[in-house]
Amino acid sequence: MIPIISKLPQTPTTIFTVMSALANEVGAINLSQGFPDYECSPILTELVHKAMKDGFNQYAPMPGLLTLREQISHKTEKLYGAVYDPNTEVTITAGGTQAIFTAISAIIHPNDEVIIFEPAYDCYSPTIKLNGGIVKSLELHPPDYRIQWDMVKKLVSNKTRMIILNSPHNPTATILNEEDIKQLTDIVKNRDIIILSDEVYEHLVFDGNQHLSMARYPELQQRSFIVASFGKLFHTTGWKVGYCLAPAYLMQEFRKIHQFNVFSVNTPMQVAAAEYLKDEDSYLSLPDFFQQKRDYFREGLKQSRFDLLPCAGSYFQSVRYQNIADEKDSEFAIRVTKEIGVAAIPVSAFYSRGTDHQVLRFCFAKKQETLDKAIERLIKL
Ligand code: GLN
Repeated sequence: MIPIISKLPQTPTTIFTVMSALANEVGAINLSQGFPDYECSPILTELVHKAMKDGFNQYAPMPGLLTLREQISHKTEKLYGAVYDPNTEVTITAGGTQAIFTAISAIIHPNDEVIIFEPAYDCYSPTIKLNGGIVKSLELHPPDYRIQWDMVKKLVSNKTRMIILNSPHNPTATILNEEDIKQLTDIVKNRDIIILSDEVYEHLVFDGNQHLSMARYPELQQRSFIVASFGKLFHTTGWKVGYCLAPAYLMQEFRKIHQFNVFSVNTPMQVAAAEYLKDEDSYLSLPDFFQQKRDYFREGLKQSRFDLLPCAGSYFQSVRYQNIADEKDSEFAIRVTKEIGVAAIPVSAFYSRGTDHQVLRFCFAKKQETLDKAIERLIKL
């Protein structure tokens, strides 16, 4: 073997892959990795099929199909009031994770500091480190996982180059509110801090609340990469299509990287997405659709001994299990998968220090019968 020096020596296989593999191995109901178990609209698959038959089978332009970028720009302006030039400020990506990787790689130089909030989606930290950046993480705690902005202020230094936000938040299902936006604006003002805003669950905000996109606030918008996902929008996580929005000066750097790690994203899916997005109901119906699932799952779990944490957005419901067991969440998640037949994500996997509040995350983007079966099993615990 030729000796190599690992670039990510401490990085294990992502928890999503680990838990989904275990769920498949033991035949458990998989509420771990976040993906729907129901079909997307047949109109959408028909549109892809048509695009293939119509000959859209060669490379799309490097930044993505212009018609799709135009639809995205139109949607963003209508929802959040920001105007993004489809030519220079919208790029189609191979899913949200690639957009995050590319945005971090475009900005972060060795020794630049990046502030993240933990529990954090698991790609942020390794991507920062790969680029030589330094992760400055602030831990959030249950039950409400609010950001302590006075602590953020203490973390900011003249080396802070980026703050990564995620609302609705995976895994904690919290959303940013106006006070958070005010505090954030205050912190970045007069500083060269770029915001990377992971908004892949933008349409999964419940109880009549608004999604506070960075695109709504000109002073934040001008310094933000916003990441979005068609997987969440269309119930097609396996298509791995998403997009990034950013002002032209940031997007120019983003595309320099995008063109060499992806070049362009599959064409027929983009043709279909551009057509499908014309029907605004495709995304305006999502909050109700998912809120029903959230309510149904929460109602069912009320019969269990789990403590339900609040869920304001995303497709995740987290629970505490201190009334049921005392073991570590990673061990408990494995036991529940094997013995009860329901797979979940142990939330400690999203803390770099492995902080364990004995919380599991379940994905409720599932058919009613799947949720019924899962509830039936979980209430036995
Ligand atoms: N976003 C999904 C989740 O949080 C999984 C994404 C992935 O597996 N890479 O479960």
